[in-house]
Amino acid sequence: MSFVVQKFGGTSVASVDHIENVARKIMAARERGDQVAAVVSAMGDQTDRLDSLAKEVGFNGEGSRREIDVLLSSGEQVTMAVLSMVLMKLGCPAKSFTGRQAGILTDSSHTRARIQSIDTEALRSSLDRGEVPVVAGFQGIDDAGDITTFGRGGSDTTAVALAAVLGADECQIFTDVEGVYTTDPRAVDTARLMEQVTFEEMLELASLGSRVLHSRAVEFASKYQVPLRVLSTFEDGPGTLITKEDSNMEQPIISGIAFTRDEAKLTVLGVEDVPGIAWKILGPISEANIEVDMILQNVAADNTTDFTFTVSREDYEEAMDILGKVANDIHAREVTGDNKIAKLSMVGVGMRSHAGVASKMFEVLAEKSINIQMISTSEIKVSVVIGEEYIELATRALHSAFDLEEQGIKS
Ligand code: ASP
Ligand code: MG
Repeated sequence: MSFVVQKFGGTSVASVDHIENVARKIMAARERGDQVAAVVSAMGDQTDRLDSLAKEVGFNGEGSRREIDVLLSSGEQVTMAVLSMVLMKLGCPAKSFTGRQAGILTDSSHTRARIQSIDTEALRSSLDRGEVPVVAGFQGIDDAGDITTFGRGGSDTTAVALAAVLGADECQIFTDVEGVYTTDPRAVDTARLMEQVTFEEMLELASLGSRVLHSRAVEFASKYQVPLRVLSTFEDGPGTLITKEDSNMEQPIISGIAFTRDEAKLTVLGVEDVPGIAWKILGPISEANIEVDMILQNVAADNTTDFTFTVSREDYEEAMDILGKVANDIHAREVTGDNKIAKLSMVGVGMRSHAGVASKMFEVLAEKSINIQMISTSEIKVSVVIGEEYIELATRALHSAFDLEEQGIKS
């Protein structure tokens, strides 16, 4: 018997009919002899609707994020009850659990909380009773007892975290696509479904804009070595298995191309080239809980330099405000910004043993007359920042230049 955690996303639970389909999948797994715990998202686009309620009110002051978490977490609470009732109606014992009831303790960063510990007692006894515990995704409580949420898409993280602490054999993420593709199939129609991808690659792809999986979920899966499978709720198929690197496996040099349009860049011009400048600029940004992605500082000519970094577009205004104040303190000449940029990254563990990926990438972009604004590289990825309007053109050109529609270039 194996034990699986099955997570069902919003489109998979969009109506009672959909939820019946989900219930039958869970029951089929049990009939095959598996033990199942379920994690659910809010029905359909309910989280968007709840979010627009908050936007309609338009209050962003002290205390607002706590209330947004109370509001957003209610979507999952509806699904967990409906799925549990449907399962019981079909003759399968089930019981719903909110994040709190499932013992999920987080820090207090409302709307982007991180799990700190999970007390598995309640879920274990539910499983021991032969029930399917149905857990509300994307939520927990902090030590003050306040409801927290994990950021959009966070139900994946709930599923993987539970799979890790409960020792599941596999965490299955059921969704409306058939698995993980070499790039976004909406942008490139020759995008190919991957059979398997490593945690490391998936981590890069997920944090870089492949929206199939929440990046924190992949982080967890990698840390606790939980095999993760992304598969379709609507079509039968093996999906994509995300797992640790197998040295016997032939690795393509490039596994996938991810991009994100939601980027913005900020530049502080004419700052003095002295110790402490990066800290003075980025310290206040991090104190405001804004995640910084790429950072670039130039060589100083005439003792001053320019300092550029990128943040997600939703944090742009706030980051600009903060820099406005900082610029004064450090006597910078000017702060400029651009929130019409996008980031594209090519990812592949095969890059470790193959030089020349970056230069080939730059050549392809040059042929399309696409200007590169920033570049960053790591062992298994090359990222560029380009104008938002070029993102699809660039992705298509690279996807084809690196033969990703085939099996990828084998090392
Ligand atoms: N319902 C939340 C969202 O739409 C969490 C999730 O589905 O993963 O972002
Ligand atoms: Mg999702």
